[in-house]
Amino acid sequence: MSKQRALVLGGAGFVGSHLCDRLVAQGWEVYAMDNLQTGRLQNIAHLRRHSRFAFVEHDVCEPFHMPAERIYNLACPASPPHYQADPVKTTLTSVLGALHALKLATRCGARVFQASTSEVYGDPEVHPQPETYRGAVNPIGPRACYDEGKRCAESLMMDFARSRGVEVRIARIFNTYGPRMDPDDGRIVSNFITQALRGEELTVYGDGTQTRSFCYVDDLIDGIVSLMEHPTFAEPVNLGNPEEFTVLDLAELVRELVSSHSPVTFRPLPPDDPKMRRPITQRATDLLGFAPKVPLRAGLARTIEYFEAQLDAEEKRQSATALIDKRGRAPSSVRARRTVNGSASR
Ligand code: NAD
Ligand code: UDP
Repeated sequence: MSKQRALVLGGAGFVGSHLCDRLVAQGWEVYAMDNLQTGRLQNIAHLRRHSRFAFVEHDVCEPFHMPAERIYNLACPASPPHYQADPVKTTLTSVLGALHALKLATRCGARVFQASTSEVYGDPEVHPQPETYRGAVNPIGPRACYDEGKRCAESLMMDFARSRGVEVRIARIFNTYGPRMDPDDGRIVSNFITQALRGEELTVYGDGTQTRSFCYVDDLIDGIVSLMEHPTFAEPVNLGNPEEFTVLDLAELVRELVSSHSPVTFRPLPPDDPKMRRPITQRATDLLGFAPKVPLRAGLARTIEYFEAQLDAEEKRQSATALIDKRGRAPSSVRARRTVNGSASR
């Protein structure tokens, strides 16, 4: 029996790489497409030799033709410093990426999943947020490139579904964390953990009373794959963990789990930073039986373990480089290690 193919746009990113793992484990032939803007080859290095996995370096702003039964569109930087670094590119990535995914789906009869976001609710005036809430996005602020790009991607999904019969699935993803986040990504979980591990101050923006709900990546992947396989439901579905924490709560928990004495330091709150965010997940529960299982404390412990290993490896690389600089050439043991690591990391 021939295997079915899934195309994962943004497959070398944090969430995308976990999705590739899950789909390969389920027996799919998986093509990961990514331009490596914020993704890293090391996230998928363990899959590169798998007979049912392939990686294609490509920018979704350019059209692509790779027939598949399922197209997951996750291509878009998700961290505010990254998506604000080149805002025009961010808008284009969301809009053109969705358009190209939908055009491919029209040609090959695929079903398309769109990774949307809780940011479509902006700085919400309704709390917690149900899918029926239409949001309070500032369309001209620094977050608009991401928020409006994602809103437009949702609208393209629904228009292709209505006018061309394309099967679409849309998840509004709330803050998700876990291993394979880039330590220098700039998001709260990766920042606090790396700061605590390095003995640096934990940077709290504003007074730290703003809230978020943090979902462990495995729970999110459960929701994504079951939504994609739902037989009919095309409208947006919130996916996230409905437990809510303040930014200060998270700082304290990370300090405790890392046994860190790093102090907290307060920095200005970025413009339009949402004051509170928590999903109503009833729709996901009713449709998919979605129920996040990993409590924040347990998920953070696993994530801290990953970051510790990353920082250790980084330290080793730096001391090897220092040794090379000092001697003019690497000792043979270091040369050998660099060859092995060099093929996996970007
Ligand atoms: P990420 O930055 O780790 O992953 C995004 C991936 O998309 C990266 O591999 C990046 O290189 C790739 N990409 C960016 N622009 C591209 C382009 N033009 N062409 C091809 N590839 C491109 O972020 P993530 O946290 O893994 O997020 C994945 C998706 O989920 C994103 O669409 C994001 O908006 C959405 N999302 C994530 C969260 C979260 O908390 N992690 C929350 C809401 C929505
Ligand atoms: N934040 C913070 N310190 C940091 C990074 C982020 O206090 O080092 C805050 C940020 O202002 C926001 C929340 O943490 O209120 C979540 O930020 P993140 O960038 O992770 O995602 P967002 O939900 O804002 O997209």
